[in-house]
Amino acid sequence: MKAEIHPKYFQAKVVCNCGNEFVTGSTKEDIRVEVCSKCHSFYTGQQKTAAARGAIEKFNRRYGITQNN
Ligand SMILES: [Zn+2]
Repeated sequence: MKAEIHPKYFQAKVVCNCGNEFVTGSTKEDIRVEVCSKCHSFYTGQQKTAAARGAIEKFNRRYGITQNN
């Protein structure tokens, strides 16, 4: 393993517009994103803001998905 030329690596906190936060490895300390796996259009249908949360819950209930977060 080469350790000489290594960018500084952080445990970056990612904050999404929907309010969801998670940690990932990155060369940046803090990351802001507009969509994440919780509010991606795949889940919401079309919205990607905090207002979409109700839609997500409805979606999950409809398809019997249980959120554990
Ligand atoms: Zn999100």
